[in-house]
Amino acid sequence: MARSIDAARAMQYTKEIVAYGPRWDGSQGMEKVRTYLKNKLKGDQVEEDAFTAETSVGKIAMRNIVVKFPGTKDGIIVLASHYETNYWLRNIPFVGANDGAATSALLLAIADQLRGKKLEGYSIWLAFLDGEESMTRQWNSDDALWGSRHLAKKWQDDGTSKKIKALLLADMIGDADLDIFHDESSTPWVEDLVLQAATRLGYQSHFFASSTSVEDDHIPFARTGVPVADIIDLNYGYNNSYHHTAQDTVDKLSVGSLKISGDVILETIRLVNAVGDNPAPVAPQKPPS
Ligand SMILES: [Zn+2]
Repeated sequence: MARSIDAARAMQYTKEIVAYGPRWDGSQGMEKVRTYLKNKLKGDQVEEDAFTAETSVGKIAMRNIVVKFPGTKDGIIVLASHYETNYWLRNIPFVGANDGAATSALLLAIADQLRGKKLEGYSIWLAFLDGEESMTRQWNSDDALWGSRHLAKKWQDDGTSKKIKALLLADMIGDADLDIFHDESSTPWVEDLVLQAATRLGYQSHFFASSTSVEDDHIPFARTGVPVADIIDLNYGYNNSYHHTAQDTVDKLSVGSLKISGDVILETIRLVNAVGDNPAPVAPQKPPS
């Protein structure tokens, strides 16, 4: 498997997504971005997961897009990102360059590396999730995480979740000033692998200086027993001041950060595969006293 992504191309994809304008659920921009993603994935094994979300602002048609790259080993590694922008920000020019666009672009750039090659190891599925953001300004997890809650339930019902070795969620990691948080609500061993991957590539200074517990699209999957890691930078601009504002634009991102994020994700995938090959030794039993 490729060891690195084409980060310049990931930046280009980010710009293309952002160029459609705001893409809140129900907007024309969202329809256009959906079509854009499907065009980029033409010829790949794409499945759509369509559903109606009964939100606090009414019924909204939503759609997760999952693209599957089959591997040689039994088991799946999922990479996920949300692609919509906030409904409650629909009256300002909020394009979510970092929040949704950059990470969807990263997934496209990773698809470019996986396409048309024999994939040694677990299958890799890329999930473009809809409806991550809360419908109203006040965060409410019952009025957010729509796509992830729907897909996690579907995968639990059809037995897929048992086959998932790890789910890596990417969120807001195109920030030029990249500082990825340690997420206390993620699965510790997957978080450890992310840090190990970053360290192996010499990028550890961008990882885990801060620690917090994040409510994001990984949570519904974690609740169904899937090992998860949310790879997220929650400090976007001084004091997170660009987050959910019209200042979340492509000039705040960098090709360098996309490269770090994308390459660490690829390295983490490699490490998850290695864990599968060499299961952790069982702790020695205490002698009877
Ligand atoms: Zn957001």
